[in-house]
Amino acid sequence: MEWTKDAEAAVRNVPFFVRKKVRRRIEQQAKAAGKQTVTLAEVRAAQQRFLAGMEKEVKGFRVETCFGAGGCPNRILDSGPLVEQIEKVLAEAGLLAFLRTTVSGPLKFHHEFRVALADCPNACSQPQIKDVGIIAACRPVKTSEPCTGCGACADACQENAIVLEDGQLAGIRNDLCVACGKCIEACDSGTLRQGKTGYRIQVGGKLGRHPRLATELPGLYDHHQVVRALESLLKSYKKRSRGGRRLGEILDRRQIEDLAAELRKA
Ligand code: SF4
Ligand code: SF4
Ligand code: SF4
Repeated sequence: MEWTKDAEAAVRNVPFFVRKKVRRRIEQQAKAAGKQTVTLAEVRAAQQRFLAGMEKEVKGFRVETCFGAGGCPNRILDSGPLVEQIEKVLAEAGLLAFLRTTVSGPLKFHHEFRVALADCPNACSQPQIKDVGIIAACRPVKTSEPCTGCGACADACQENAIVLEDGQLAGIRNDLCVACGKCIEACDSGTLRQGKTGYRIQVGGKLGRHPRLATELPGLYDHHQVVRALESLLKSYKKRSRGGRRLGEILDRRQIEDLAAELRKA
């Protein structure tokens, strides 16, 4: 089918990985309307249909998970029950109605409140760029079992967080450790064992015109603390977000620190 120059130029703005599909769809619709040539009018009409369809799909929030549940060997915690509860909290927060009253114009996917959970610090679901990111983590602790000096923990640690002195485990650098638990699996002598296990919480990540990585609350949190943190963040978000502003745009570092302090006391 023929395309006019301006129609060709307009469709070039469509991301390359869906461009072919979009072209096919526009041609089908032009043919159905009895047209021999695709003009800018057909492209614009398709754009309008897409935007109208998108608004119907927007549900106010989105929860993304990693593939840990599919049997990933790196998985630290089964976050399935937490995911269910998070979805419930988000559904009850009335986010779609909130967005409809605070955003002018049609709602788009980027207006939605986003939460991502990852079952280990590899963070495949990209929690760092979501409003709330939750990462399963496990801190190693040193026991009184004698270290054999095998060095397996240091080999397993990608962060160089294991400190060996004269071949023996001397400590773990908490400033480097991401709590992946790999050194624990590697230690056959039991010198390293699982310490605190829970979730890291990251707040305020986003992409778009002004991207930013989320800020991490210090510490690890249990299932109930994660839910409480989410409820508290949703409260602040609904109180202060207008015009589709994301959590990272309305919370400053001090407020994030206050939340962490509140969770530690609870
Ligand atoms: S985040 Fe970790 S557990 Fe989840 S899929 Fe990635 S590597 Fe596996
Ligand atoms: S938990 Fe992971 S990052 Fe931390 S010391 Fe062990 S292997 Fe290194
Ligand atoms: S893996 Fe265990 S036994 Fe081997 S060096 Fe590390 S702490 Fe010591």
